Amino acid sequence: MFDYLIVGAGFAGSVLAERLATRSNKKVLIIDKRNHIAGNAYDHYNEEGILVHKYGPHIFHTNSKDVFEYLTNFTDWRPYEHRVLASVDGQLVPMPINLDTINKLYGLSLNSFEVEQFLESVAEDIPVIRTSEDVVVSKVGRELYEKFFKNYTRKQWGMDPSELDKSVTSRVPTRTNRDDRYFTDTYQAMPLHGYTRMFERMLDHPNIKVMLNTDYHEIIDFIPFKEIIFTGPVDEYFDFKFGKLPYRSLEFKHETLNVEKFLAAPVVNYPNEHLYTRITEFKALTGQQHPKTSVVYEYPQADGDPYYPIPRLENAELYSKYKKLADETPNVHFVGRLATYKYYNMDQVVAQALTLYKKLTEKSEEALQAKKPAISGSASLVEKLVSRAPKQE
Ligand code: FAD
Ligand code: UDP
Repeated sequence: MFDYLIVGAGFAGSVLAERLATRSNKKVLIIDKRNHIAGNAYDHYNEEGILVHKYGPHIFHTNSKDVFEYLTNFTDWRPYEHRVLASVDGQLVPMPINLDTINKLYGLSLNSFEVEQFLESVAEDIPVIRTSEDVVVSKVGRELYEKFFKNYTRKQWGMDPSELDKSVTSRVPTRTNRDDRYFTDTYQAMPLHGYTRMFERMLDHPNIKVMLNTDYHEIIDFIPFKEIIFTGPVDEYFDFKFGKLPYRSLEFKHETLNVEKFLAAPVVNYPNEHLYTRITEFKALTGQQHPKTSVVYEYPQADGDPYYPIPRLENAELYSKYKKLADETPNVHFVGRLATYKYYNMDQVVAQALTLYKKLTEKSEEALQAKKPAISGSASLVEKLVSRAPKQE
């Protein structure tokens, strides 16, 4: 009998498998319907021997010391600060918009203070910021919004920024200095030997059994377990009882080119041209040396694997119905980007999984306490010894 059946071997499922197996000595079966672990963070060496991310570029960044230290148990790191250029008006300019973006775009040589004044002069006064259009227009005005955000967002999400929650475009800041990093988090690094290697180390424990190519529907009635941790789409778990939660999908077109370097930056965004949103050159992320180079083009799609929950009010309302049901379902725990319908980055999913682990252990400790005879005032010797014993890694 397994203590836990974990559905999905991405960050959410693998962190929980690792904690439950190594810290709580639980027997875990982790399954995935795909033929690999690591979920959307999966990377592999392609036919030319170049390390690529199958499901698009994954750049690790976090402000959480706890999350970074936790993952450091399973990987060494390659320091890496991400940079992006956007193709606008026939030029490649830094994205997020910064001092150099404005100067290059308009052929100016403003300083930080002057750029600040310029942005203030074009920014629109929007009393209540609700949508992804409001966020940008209130900071950089309509013209820059149209050049950098409007069409990219329409392409990526299949809807206008005015129909999306403000949290979507809020992910990309505006700067008046020359900082051209995509992220400013305290910890920014790539797993030195890739994500999949890191996941292999997380799941390498005698208490963890991994079963791939397996949809949970196929085994749920045959394999005995006590509790489920579910990291797939929450609406699917409940047979779409309240209707389908909308997700946005992508098609990834991978290519290997017979040149050493292809792009002027690790990622180039194309807000206004092409059907794809961006191109990524993997060697720039991983630091791998190779005479050829591999890139991926991302083509947004309505149908296909669910990659992005779509943040907007009506979807949040529908999700809240599923959330209520999820909370009322005993012995099933929902965690991760699909199961909690949150546009989360990897570090946020790790943090969410670590929090659930804490909750699960508190719950089992409470159950243990409840079983104890009421008279025992002080801890027994065995308990004292156990509590002094070094924790299992
Ligand atoms: P997933 O990784 O999706 O894992 C869920 C797993 O459950 C999947 O492997 C799936 O096959 C499995 N599953 C689903 N249903 C079933 C079923 N019925 N039976 C069995 N198995 C099932 N985050 C960053 O921090 N930085 C980035 O640069 C970044 N870039 C991204 C780029 C793209 C294109 C995308 C789509 C996401 C990106 N992310 C990035 C987000 C990151 O991928 C997620 O935060 C993270 O992978 C979520 O982990 P998870 O375990 O919740 O879900
Ligand atoms: N965005 C945009 N233009 C860009 C980059 C981003 O309009 O050049 C918007 C777009 O709506 C996108 C969102 O900002 O979906 C978040 O961007 P991010 O790079 O964080 O997207 P992700 O890497 O999660 O796909």
